Amino acid sequence: MNREKMAERLKTKISEKRYIHSLGVEYTAACMAFVHGADVEKARTAGLLHDCAKGLSQKEKLEKARKHGLEISAYEEKNPDMLHAKLGAWYAREKYEVEDEEILSAIKWHTTGKPGMSLLDKIIFVADYIEPNRKPVPKLDKIRKLAFTDLDKAVVLILKNTISYLEESGADMDDSTKKTLEYYTKK
Ligand code: FE
Ligand code: FE
Repeated sequence: MNREKMAERLKTKISEKRYIHSLGVEYTAACMAFVHGADVEKARTAGLLHDCAKGLSQKEKLEKARKHGLEISAYEEKNPDMLHAKLGAWYAREKYEVEDEEILSAIKWHTTGKPGMSLLDKIIFVADYIEPNRKPVPKLDKIRKLAFTDLDKAVVLILKNTISYLEESGADMDDSTKKTLEYYTKK
């Protein structure tokens, strides 16, 4: 499936706001791929499609994840929205004809990150956070700069932000978020 077909389909599956965000992640990821020497086309595809399952309701996310045999953690059971990443990878493969494992992995891990991310995983994880349409968050300027100069450091600052945000709001968090931070701070 070519890029225009993907975009056309995507547009019917998510809100307009989310679609604009997806385009922002697409071009931000492309620029980051230039700088870090990653595959630009893969970065674009992963960026465009990373939230392709986000339009489903909480209930649908759980139902579809069960139906398609995806592993559901206790945390995801309580926070079905988190499933949009895993489900997104599933939809990218089944509905958008993406066979490339690197692209599918970047979509799968874009929310929590994971220890030992590939270059493309990190680019999508960071691009999702810094794209121009995003609402301002603490240290965003600094993270945007680091995204192009020190990718691992950008990953660390994003995880720290996410964790302190979740702690402040009293929400619990996915294990992989903490594990990822541990991994990248040690590195
Ligand atoms: Fe997402
Ligand atoms: Fe996103």
